[in-house]
Amino acid sequence: MLYPSSAKDREILGYFWVRQVHCSNPACRVLIPVVNQTWLANKSSRRIAYRIKPNAQRTGIEYSLHYDDEIDFDPKEATYGNNKLLCPCCGEVTPGKYMRVEGMAGRIEQELVLACEVSSQQQGRFYRLANDTDRNAWRRAVEMAASVIPIEGDVSPDRPSGNARGLSAVTRYGMLKFADFFNARQTVTLDAFARTIRATREEIAKSGESVEALRGLTNHDIAVRFQAVHFGGRTMPQTASETNRRVSLRIPPEDKALLMRAAALEQTNLTEFMVRASLEAARGTIHRAERLALSERDSLAVLDLLENPPAPNARLVAAAGGLPDHQ
Ligand SMILES: [Zn+2]
Repeated sequence: MLYPSSAKDREILGYFWVRQVHCSNPACRVLIPVVNQTWLANKSSRRIAYRIKPNAQRTGIEYSLHYDDEIDFDPKEATYGNNKLLCPCCGEVTPGKYMRVEGMAGRIEQELVLACEVSSQQQGRFYRLANDTDRNAWRRAVEMAASVIPIEGDVSPDRPSGNARGLSAVTRYGMLKFADFFNARQTVTLDAFARTIRATREEIAKSGESVEALRGLTNHDIAVRFQAVHFGGRTMPQTASETNRRVSLRIPPEDKALLMRAAALEQTNLTEFMVRASLEAARGTIHRAERLALSERDSLAVLDLLENPPAPNARLVAAAGGLPDHQ
């Protein structure tokens, strides 16, 4: 399981990770989470925040979750602000420039801190501290990601990121490659996704359509076909004829007997029973296909933005020029 939840009715909505930089105090060197605020919810009805604090020996960091009146600290005062990192263990202030040097040297680490879940029984989001089950699932994702071999012609994790030049701040922290933007679990998911799309293209091609015609398909078309290929048998969907109001089908007599019995129990006729039941099934199928198409469209939109970031507007350029350590 790549996304284990804490209970049967719960599902993982997301994880909170922190990036960590070593304290610049040579006597300390504790890994400090780089966090500018720790609010998780800040509404009058519900307030949740987590706390970053030193362990008893001041040799590492601990986290705790707090609700409503238990929040007796300022979640806006975390470890990072104004391009400076404050060490909760020794009080040393690590400058942003040092953090970038650490990043370029590949010494920025990351840690899983919280999991956020949703429930099928109750409304709202449920936060909890990350546990060993979460960390084991993560290790499994790392193992799986190590065996991901990029598909030729698709997104290559080693390619310089589209953000590798210009004003982008992340490159100054050593995030140079496309893969640096995704963690192992995301890599595994993206890879599975890319392979599924690829396999669908191949299945469609096998069904007799020319590869040239496939090139013209939009990703939405592909997603619809994916649904047809994987859930609807080998036959491609037929174009519906608007004038044809009749449907005829051939079914084994025992199936027909079953349907007639069910129709009788519902006190309706065979036609009405079949139309109602199949319309219900059809709506479900279309709903699932649309969900698939939408999630695919959104993922591709993210990939596209990463590859072709829009040009910075005047305000972003001005903001970047105003950074204290801008080079
Ligand atoms: Zn320190």
